[in-house]
Amino acid sequence: MEVTAEPRVFRKSCDEARARGLTVGFVPTMGALHRGHAHLLERARKDCGFEALSLFVNPLQFDSQADLKAYPRALEADLDLARGLGVDLAFTPDESAMYPDGPPRVTVDPGPLGERLEGRSRPGHFRGVLTAVAALLELAGPCRAYFGEKDAQQLALVRRMVLDLAMPVTVIPCATVREPDGLAISSRNARLSPRQRGAAPVLFEALSDAATEARRGERRVGVHRAHMARRIGADSLARLDYAAVVDEETWEDVDVVSDRPARALVAASFDGARLIDNLLLPSAGVGSVQNTGDAQGGS
Ligand code: AMP
Repeated sequence: MEVTAEPRVFRKSCDEARARGLTVGFVPTMGALHRGHAHLLERARKDCGFEALSLFVNPLQFDSQADLKAYPRALEADLDLARGLGVDLAFTPDESAMYPDGPPRVTVDPGPLGERLEGRSRPGHFRGVLTAVAALLELAGPCRAYFGEKDAQQLALVRRMVLDLAMPVTVIPCATVREPDGLAISSRNARLSPRQRGAAPVLFEALSDAATEARRGERRVGVHRAHMARRIGADSLARLDYAAVVDEETWEDVDVVSDRPARALVAASFDGARLIDNLLLPSAGVGSVQNTGDAQGGS
């Protein structure tokens, strides 16, 4: 596995792989790799002749310096895991390599969706995400880029950006990988105390209840939202941020679960750790939860 912190070298290696006739599969991450990331890497490995991974803790997407500093870093372990999964190229730039002139002055405007849900709770977050992802995709060049449904709003915004800015990239959505009790795997889970860790699956339970009720025919989104909020709010360790249901394509709020796919999303804080999760709700008349990506991972 080639490892480089140099943007020029990363670009050149991706270019050379394409010149050899290989499809480049690209998995952008912030490192501290876990089974969720591994799932994306395995998908890319299966699909593509050349697999590139980036490990870059993007300062632009953090709302506080304390949060940025507290973000876990585990470069050597990440590189070992990547080698084991057959990654061809690991890109490990630091801030000065990505932004040699200081923070970028030209940035990507995420549009109206960037202001809602996660964007409302974390002002500037998606501008920071998209500005970094745009630069990484530009360096990688034409590729298949793998993103997790765990961060569904980020995935939707990256898809939008790739379409609106005519980037030569195919975005591949990958299902959320969960712990056996349903908790979506996240590097932030390490910040949970044992009691909070015990309570954290309430997010997935609330989403699963909504999916079950939708499958039984409950179409009123107000009812789903209220149930999810009550379920999470009833946990003394969780502070609910939002419980929402949006149209899977437009990301507009919906009033009823119709024959169009709708996604339920929740966010809650457990003291210092803010967790998010989401689940596609079964459409009216559909007997099971559908997925845009691969099967819901429980591995
Ligand atoms: P991050 O390092 O947190 O920026 O995540 C890098 C990529 O991994 C993003 O596309 C995430 O959506 C994805 N990811 C993170 N956690 C999971 C998970 N539990 N299941 C699937 N994908 C994930």
